[in-house]
Amino acid sequence: MNDCVFCKIINREIPSEIVFENEKIIVFKDINPKTEIHLLIVPKKHIANINEIKEEDKELIAEMFWVVKQIAHQLNIIEQGYKLVFNVGRGAGQLIDHIHLHLLSGSFNRSLKEI
Ligand code: 5GP
Ligand code: ZN
Repeated sequence: MNDCVFCKIINREIPSEIVFENEKIIVFKDINPKTEIHLLIVPKKHIANINEIKEEDKELIAEMFWVVKQIAHQLNIIEQGYKLVFNVGRGAGQLIDHIHLHLLSGSFNRSLKEI
């Protein structure tokens, strides 16, 4: 867990562009954006991915989507729309083993595989 990049971002051990934070969730800009707006919604609790969530995490996962709605309003992307993506496991392109939801908005010229 100590080597986790996202835990380090949460603990301010490495810098990031944070756009939202509350007690349980942090949202920051992806360092390598695939679209004009590319944010990562990240629970502060270290969970590797959806396969590892427990029943006690259900509210936390719901909170991620609640945060998305607030951010979408803030960024004024309700009309133009956005994609939400969880990569789960290496075969799906998950590189960081700390659960995160990609929020992408803009022009989608690239395939979903590249996200
Ligand atoms: P995954 O492929 O695991 O679903 O997504 C990980 C995402 O985290 C990638 O889109 C990658 O660009 C982003 N990322 C990796 N390292 C960092 C970092 O140090 N800072 C930020 N802001 N994003 C990162
Ligand atoms: Zn972590």
